[in-house]
This record gives sequence, structure tokens and C-alpha cells, in this order.
Amino acid sequence: MACENRTTCPYCGVGCGVIASVDDAGTVTVRGDPEHPANFGRLCSKGSALAETLDLDGRLLFPQINGQRSSWDAALDLVAERFSDTIAEHGPDSVAFYVSGQLLTEDYYVANKLMKGFIGSGNIDTNSRLCMASSVAGHRRAFGSDTVPGTYADLELADLVVLVGSNLAWCHPVLYQRIAAAKASRPTMKVVVVDPRRTATSDIADLHLAVRPDGDVALFNGLLAHLAETNRIDEAFVGSHTSGLAEALIAASPLSMAALSEATGLSGLSIRQFFWLFADTERVVTCYSQGVNQSASGTDKVNAIINCHLATGRIGRSGMGPFSLTGQPNAMGGREVGGLANMLAAHMAIENADDRDRVQRFWKSPRIADRPGLKAVDMFDAVADGRIKALWIMSTNPVVSMPDADKVKAAIDACPFVVVSDMQGDTDTGRLAHVLLPATGWGEKSGTVTNSERRVSRQRAFLSGPGEARPDWWHITEVARRIGFASAFDFASPADIFAEHAALSAFENDGSRDFDIGAFAAIDEDQYDDLRPFHWPRPATGEMSDRFFSDGRFYHPDGKARFIPVATVPVSEQAGFILNTGRVRDHWHTMTRTGKSARLSAHMAEPYCEIHLLDAADHGVGHADLVRITGQSGGEVIVRALLSDRQARGSLFLPMHWSDETASAARVDTLVPSLTDPVSGQPALKQARVSLERY
Ligand code: SF4
Repeated sequence: MACENRTTCPYCGVGCGVIASVDDAGTVTVRGDPEHPANFGRLCSKGSALAETLDLDGRLLFPQINGQRSSWDAALDLVAERFSDTIAEHGPDSVAFYVSGQLLTEDYYVANKLMKGFIGSGNIDTNSRLCMASSVAGHRRAFGSDTVPGTYADLELADLVVLVGSNLAWCHPVLYQRIAAAKASRPTMKVVVVDPRRTATSDIADLHLAVRPDGDVALFNGLLAHLAETNRIDEAFVGSHTSGLAEALIAASPLSMAALSEATGLSGLSIRQFFWLFADTERVVTCYSQGVNQSASGTDKVNAIINCHLATGRIGRSGMGPFSLTGQPNAMGGREVGGLANMLAAHMAIENADDRDRVQRFWKSPRIADRPGLKAVDMFDAVADGRIKALWIMSTNPVVSMPDADKVKAAIDACPFVVVSDMQGDTDTGRLAHVLLPATGWGEKSGTVTNSERRVSRQRAFLSGPGEARPDWWHITEVARRIGFASAFDFASPADIFAEHAALSAFENDGSRDFDIGAFAAIDEDQYDDLRPFHWPRPATGEMSDRFFSDGRFYHPDGKARFIPVATVPVSEQAGFILNTGRVRDHWHTMTRTGKSARLSAHMAEPYCEIHLLDAADHGVGHADLVRITGQSGGEVIVRALLSDRQARGSLFLPMHWSDETASAARVDTLVPSLTDPVSGQPALKQARVSLERY
């Protein structure tokens, strides 16, 4: 008799419900949960292969100190001692945590509480910085809060879905399936894809705009100007609920169609088609993901999009609104607990003295970080120059995934004390650790995650952890207790942590803060076990609509949304190719899980470089030839060429997944400089300049 467990897929931000069945022989099978509102039973290739990734091959089974097996007590004592000594000698800002959107919300909560409230530094940042920090910054600038106003149902109700910098078909496949199904049943629905590449997502597009890399601000500024010129501004909404339109219009000052074509790389006809479609369609959802966020102007891109929705009043209503799609399964949950260096728990602001005071009083903590900590790129710079002397990396592999990856590798290698908590024992980052702590993984750990539409779902354990693996929240609380904070970290279970997290979200919250799940502040173990997926907010008292901004109230002090004037990025012609990095359909991050499935690995068996046919011809490169790609700071990757006409001339695409562990000379992020968006600190992972030659 198989035992069925309702849980959530650990891969992308769609957050699909999964039913995992374990039979008497211990064999696990998975299927989509027909009752989960994110996917209604659908799963993509990655989700449906989850059972194939559960073997013990490569798992870290025991704590290790300097490569030797140790007891838990010895490892935890050492971590606590080295962090305590470093803080005592060099101050709280000499230590840092680098965490992950793979962590469950409860893990994230205790890590953030320890660093910001008890160590007293803001130095906790996350690989979500690489994923959606520009969306967070754009939301906060426009709305006064990091609020995603839409839901997945809006995508099906829209008459026009605009997908900007988003290869949904590969990166959020079930959401793509939902849109494709809605379009099939309602053929009048239109889809526009804005992407320099003609990706699999373009297959459902009525219009594909192969925009020039970083031409997005020009496109949406042009749209804002067009809406004003053609009297499509919703004057009543703008007058009552926003400020700053005049300044935004000055910044978006209309370009001639020739200049707009030059700035966007698009024909005048396709630009006009898009403008007319947007202007004439009331129910529009504009989705954006990494093609927008991973840019040196990512926050401006987000605000250029939001400006168009504010101008037309298309926000806070059914079937319309700007919609950030997060890459990771719990990028949203991490935001909710303040897992970014510049945020506090429960969406409070670290720069706000009242918020700091409120969080400190709630935690009864001896101190509170009084300024933002180091964002990911700056954090590894501080490791490199010796300001950070003790570093704890949890559930992520920055030696592969950070920009300027060779520099990051050297920095970690030279850091006096490095702790890595991970499921896998031999990752590129784990090899550099002084202490390795074995973590439980999907199917073995319990907690919650929040998907892109603010829906909180449970991940449930249905397997015991192998060897001596323990959940990340337990690693953190055990170290916190040893440092001397036993009573504040006296958590017995994830349910305990979730209840405190919920109580903090409601603490002195009179509705002036967007994130409130106070309804769960007294949740017990049984209720937590039974928790069904829900959208936040869920305040303890009073009714709150599922739909943010339906009353035109935003979270700036005056209750109004802000138009943000954004400057069009000038076109810069430089030598070499523009490198675009991203995911393939069947792999996830650095392949520590998906690489275990032969079925998934068969889709793309090895790393590659996609290049336009004519560019390949210019460089004497034939299909499947080896090519050497060299970055401006000297990083080098050697992979096979994939010739296609889907790639724009002058640009290359390389997948991000492979590492030194899985292929030689394929760490793509060695090619990417650590250029960041000045507002969000998000690295520009899609605009490195590289050169290419036949190898
Ligand atoms: Fe998992 Fe995302 Fe696929 Fe859903 S769409 S099954 S969450 S990888």
C-alpha cells in the first residue's frame, strides 16, 4: 500500500504541487497534485523526474572538518567558536552568511534572525540576489512595498500577455502550459514575447520582438510616451492614486520612430504593432523575469514596465498588472523573512528606525543590524579583501553561479574560515570548506515555500535523511545556541518557526505593511501538517482581499504609487559578442540534482554555445565544432557550437548549469564580470562582452 504525501516541487518559482508516493519497497513515484492551485496536476519534465534524483550518490552523509569525518558536536562547536572569536576580535561585520532561494522559509527565518538580530550585522545575502533583486527594488520604488500584485489566474484571464526577458516554456514550464491552454481555448488572447532570442516560448507568440539587449527601457519608455500621445492615460486613476507621471514622461520623451528602432533594434512596424496592441487591450499582464532583472539597468526596466501599467490604471484588477516571475522555488519566502542584506524580516525596511525597533522588540534581541549588509557581489569582494573572515554558505554553489567566478573561488579559498551546508559532498564550493555540514534535501525536510504569485505551500518530508543529515534550520539553531542565544533559538520544529514568523508579520501591523500572515501566529503541529496552499496576506483579524491595490491604496506614506523616471540606456557598439546566460529546459542550477537523471541529462547532454549561423560562418565555425569563448577578465570556456537562426546576430547564449565538476572548462560565470545594477545590486549576468574563436 503506497503512502501518499502532498508536497511542492523544489525547482522553479511556479511552485507546483506534487504528490509523492512511497510504496512498501521504498520506491518513490511522483505526480502532479490535481488540487494544487499552481498547477492543477501538471508537472514539467524536471518535476516529473524528481523521483530519479533521490539516490544517495554524492550525498554528504556526515559532518566533516578539514575533509575528515567528525561528530556533529565537534563540527557545531567549531563553527560557533570560530564565528564567536571572529566577531569578538573584528566585530559583527567581519562574518557573513550567503544563503539560497533553495532554503525553506523556516531555514531562512532563523538564519536572518541570527545574523541581523543576534550577531547584529546585515551581512546575510542570498543567491536570490542573482535572480530577482531588481524586481524587489522596482516594486519598492513604485509601490512602497515589495508586493507582487497579480496571481496566475490573471494570466489566463488576460487578453494580452506580454512576456519580457522570460523563456517561460523552459524556465517556468507549467505557467507556459497554463497560458498556452488559455490561448488555445480563447484564440482572441494575444501573446507578445520580448526577448533577443527566439526561444521555445516564442512558439505561442503572436508577436516576437527580438529586442536589442538592454533595449527594454527604450521600448517601455516609448510605450509610455505613445500612451500619453494617444490619450490612453487613465487620468482618474493617475490623479487619485499616483504621483510623478509628468517627470516619467519627460524622461521618456518621445523618440522618433527611427531613433526608437535604433535603441531597441526593432522595426518601426513591430514597435507600432506592440504599442497598438497594448494601448487597445484593457486586460494586459506584463510578466518579467531574468532578462529584465539580470542587467545593470534591471531596476529601471522593472519600473519602465510598471509605469505603463500605472499610466493605464491596469493594476489591482482581474486579468491585468505587472507580474515578476521568480526563478527559484523560494525566492519569495526569502524576501518575506528579510533574507536580503537590505531588508528586515516581514518586509520591514532595515533603513527604517521604527521597523528596526519593532523587530528588535519582537525578537527581544540584544542588538539589531542598523544598516544594510553587503549584497552578494560586494560580499565576495569583502571576502577577497579580507574584511569578511568567517563565511557560512548554505544550499548554494557560488563558485559556479557568481559572476567573476574565478575571483569568487579564489576569495573563498583564501577565507580564514568557511562553512558549507549542503546535501552534496563534493561541489565546487564544498571543496573549499573548512567545515561541511550535511543537509537534508527535498523529500527529507519540512517547511514552507512561497511561489511567484505569493502562494505559500508546504514541503513535506516523506523520507528520512540519509546518514547524519539534518535540516538547515537545525544547523543554524544549534550554532546560535552554542554562541549563547539558546532561548531565542529554542525551536523544536519548522512549525514552531513558522508560527513565530507569522506572529512577527502581524506584530504592530495595522495594515500599513503588506506582508501579514498573522492568521497562523498560533498554528500548532497538526494545523501546520494540514496547511493547505494559501495566498498571503492572511491577517488574524479583518478581511483582506486576495488582490492587492484593488482599492488604489499603495504603501508609500501618502498611499500613492510612484511613477519612476527612467533614462533610456544608450546603445553602445563594442567589439566582440554579447553573452547571454540562462537555463536549459531540463536542468536546474548547477545540476547537483537534475544531473542525476539520465532522462533529464539526455535533453542537452553537454554544455554548448548557441550562435547565429552567419556569425558562425564569419568565424569559420561549423556545427558541433569546439569553440573557445574568452571573457574580458580572462575567464575561458571551451564548448561545442550550436548553430541556429534563433540567436540574434552578435550575441551568444551559454547555459549556466555546468561546472568544473560536470564538464571541463564550462563554468560560464568565469566569463561574466561583476557588473551590478546600482539600485538593486543584482549582477548583469546577460550582458558580458566576450570573444569567440574556433578551438
Ligand atoms: Fe517544478 Fe517549475 Fe516544473 Fe512546476 S514548472 S514542476 S515548479 S520545475
